[in-house]
Amino acid sequence: MRACDVIAELRALAARTSDADGAQRVAWGPVWRDARRWLDEALARDGLRAETDVAGNNWITLAGTRPETVVIGGHLDSVPNGGWLDGALGVLAGVEALRRHKDRTPPVTLAVVDFADEEGARFGRSLLGSSGASASLVPDTVRNLVDRQGTRLADALAENGVDVDRMPEARRALDARRPRAYLELHIEQGPVLESMGRSTGAVIGTYGVERHVLRFVGQAAHSGSTPIAMRRDAFLAAAETALACRDIARRLSTPESGVVCTVGTVKVEPGIVTAVPGVCEISLDQRALEPATLQRALDDAREAASRAAAANDVRVEWRRVWQIDPYRFDPRLLALCTEAVQEVTGHAPRLPSGPLHDAVEMARVMPAVMMFAMSSNGLSHCKEEDTPEADLEATIEAFQRLVDKTVAMVAAEEPA
Ligand SMILES: [Zn+2]
Repeated sequence: MRACDVIAELRALAARTSDADGAQRVAWGPVWRDARRWLDEALARDGLRAETDVAGNNWITLAGTRPETVVIGGHLDSVPNGGWLDGALGVLAGVEALRRHKDRTPPVTLAVVDFADEEGARFGRSLLGSSGASASLVPDTVRNLVDRQGTRLADALAENGVDVDRMPEARRALDARRPRAYLELHIEQGPVLESMGRSTGAVIGTYGVERHVLRFVGQAAHSGSTPIAMRRDAFLAAAETALACRDIARRLSTPESGVVCTVGTVKVEPGIVTAVPGVCEISLDQRALEPATLQRALDDAREAASRAAAANDVRVEWRRVWQIDPYRFDPRLLALCTEAVQEVTGHAPRLPSGPLHDAVEMARVMPAVMMFAMSSNGLSHCKEEDTPEADLEATIEAFQRLVDKTVAMVAAEEPA
């Protein structure tokens, strides 16, 4: 089975770009550049070639009889100490699709794109290259981001031949390709498919995110002399809010689509063992697939925080850090994806994606859908990231079938 070639290539890429702690293909750095060189060498053996757009994305094109294009995406960059499948699976499964269609000119054009800096690991801005390609990127918002060494994003990109101000111009080149459908194969990075005993799933859409910082302000006081009833403990109000948010997520979750919330950071002041906390700041990250559900989760969290603040005689202020709307993938492509998974694996689970992906940026430009391979123990962004080979093979085959179905769909459409 040809899927084995993809797995062998993924292992070869991992061997070349990983150390004992995992994959080290952080975007804009030397190992990432070496990963792209490795891919260039692999492509040359098949008579294929990558071209870089002004946003730093690499495009590999197989011209069809007609110029309308089915785009297949992924990313070779990784987080530091990352896994062997995140991103790279999508690129190499896409290259495999080009190889399978190469000997007979396909009816429409196929293009694989290796997006630059999907992870945002170095500068904290995810989906950088794909947001250049969709032209949603506002260069002013990223130009002066710095990494831990103090290097500016604009300078790191310039070292790689990318002018941050010109990145949104990549949209013009993308539009010129007449893009008609976007497909992305990725690992799930969570435990849902494994818990169902399934290798492969069709992705309904990606969660919307509401991310806030909540600042509770009470009164710092001596821990020995202040009776419990007379305290204005900011931490307790924050803690009660965190527990209430868990209940809200449980209450709003449905079997098809969970609601999640995370309090990921806690800061207390004055932060000493003998003082009642006068100030407590927590982060709250809430995600859901339905816009109305996400709004409801946020409204309920505000109410819960106000209640907890009142109960502890403190006040609470909210500051929004980031927000993105939920996105539902194209119904026609989702139907093709479901069919492909069903035909190859005998089952067709559908699930939403908690993490964001380049597909969300591409969905601004053309209809899009994603397919997931199960993740062992739900782990990703670590060296333990894995998928059993039999599950990978089935998923890669299902993805090839999705490509074929999508090519047939686009070929049947009226030429633009
Ligand atoms: Zn990824």
